[in-house]
Amino acid sequence: MFERAERLKKLPPYLFKELDRKRDEAISKGVDVIDLGVGDPDLPTPEPVVEEMKKAVQDPMNHRYPSYSGMIEFRKAAAQWYKSRFGVSVDPEQEVLSLIGSKEGIAHFPLAFVNPGDIVLVPTPAYPVYNIATIFAGGNSFFMPLLEENHFLPDLSSIPTEIAEKAKIMFINYPNNPTSATADKDFFKEVVKFAKKHNIIVCHDAAYTEISFDGYIPPSFLEVDGAKDVAVEFHSLSKTYNMTGWRIGFAVGNSDLISALGAIKSNIDSGVFQAVQIAGIRALRLNKSWLKSTVDIYRKRRDMLVEALNNIGLKVKPPKATFYLWIKVPEGYSSEEFASRLLEEAGIVVTPGNGFGEPGEGYIRISLTQKDERLKEAVARIERIRI
Ligand SMILES: *Cc1c(COP(=O)(O)O)cnc(C)c1O
Repeated sequence: MFERAERLKKLPPYLFKELDRKRDEAISKGVDVIDLGVGDPDLPTPEPVVEEMKKAVQDPMNHRYPSYSGMIEFRKAAAQWYKSRFGVSVDPEQEVLSLIGSKEGIAHFPLAFVNPGDIVLVPTPAYPVYNIATIFAGGNSFFMPLLEENHFLPDLSSIPTEIAEKAKIMFINYPNNPTSATADKDFFKEVVKFAKKHNIIVCHDAAYTEISFDGYIPPSFLEVDGAKDVAVEFHSLSKTYNMTGWRIGFAVGNSDLISALGAIKSNIDSGVFQAVQIAGIRALRLNKSWLKSTVDIYRKRRDMLVEALNNIGLKVKPPKATFYLWIKVPEGYSSEEFASRLLEEAGIVVTPGNGFGEPGEGYIRISLTQKDERLKEAVARIERIRI
C-alpha cells in the first residue's frame, strides 16, 4: 500500500465520529435535524456582485491566467476599503495580495517562514488551520490557551521566554471564532510590543471584522502603531458578503511578509479567477447599508437564541461580534455529552468546543447561519428541553 507522509499522520485526530454517527442515524430515522454546526452563511451573495460576475465571466480577457499577486484593480479596491474602514493606508502594489479565500493564505503562510522544528504560537481553541499549516511546514505549535478568565485573549506573560525567543509566528484572530470574543487596541499594542521584542511575525485573521453588533466596531490589527513592521492581516469576503463559495480574500500588511507569501503562492497556485476578483471589487464597493441589513439579521437571530438558551437555564451573554454563540455547557456535562443531548432531544447539531482545542472542553459553539424559520424551530425545540 502507499504510505502517507508524516505530515498527514501528524494531523490531530478527528474527535466526533460517534457524534457524527448519531447524527447520521437520526437523519436515517427521519428526524428533521437542524444543523447549527457549520459557520457558512445561508444568505445569498448580494445581487450586484452576482450581476458583475455574470458580465465578467463572458469577457474572454478573464479566461486567461490572472496575475499571481492579484489584479491591481482588486488590490486597489482592497486598499481603498482599508482606508475608509480602518483609516489605514496600504500600498496596493507592495502591501496587498489577492487570496483564493483567506484560508488559502493562512495555510500557505508558514511555508514562507517556518523551518522544520521552528515554533509557532497558536491559540487554542481556534480555527484549526493555524496548527495544521504549522504542522505542514514542519513546525511545532506552542498553544496559547484562550480562557474565559482572560476574556479569551492569550496571556502573553505566561509564554516562557525561551519559547518566545524561538517562535517565528504568532497567529491571532479577533473577533474570534469559536469564542466570539473581541480584542481592543490595547491588546493589539501589547502583541506588537511582544512581537518586536522577540522578533515574531504576527498573523492576524480578521475574517469577522464586519460582523459586529450594538455599536461595537472591531479594529484592524494594523491600526496600532508599528503593527505594519511585524504583521500581516488576512481578510475574507466570505463572511462579510456571503461569498464562502466564491473563494476570495486578501492579505494586507508588511511588504516583506506579503512578498514572501506571494513567492510561495506563485509556485503553487496561479491566482484568483479574474471574474471573481472583479465581482470582489463590486463587493468591496457595496454601500454600507447592505452590510447593515445582513448584520441586523444576525443580531435578531442572536437575540432570539440567547433568550431561548437563558430560558432553559444556560447563562449566555450576547456576543459583540461574529455569528457564533460560545456557550458553557451545564454542570456535569462534557461538550460532547451536551451536544449529544441536543441532538437526541431536539434534533439540533452543534459543535462541541473541544473540537477546536482542549481548552474548548466545557463549551459548545452554535452558529447563526441557518434560515430564520429553522432557527425559530430550533428555539422552540430548545425551550422544551429540561436541564
Ligand atoms: C471562515 C473562516 C476563515 C476562512 O475564510 P475563507 O476566506 O472562506 O477561506 C478564516 N478564518 C476564520 C476564523 C474563519 O472562521
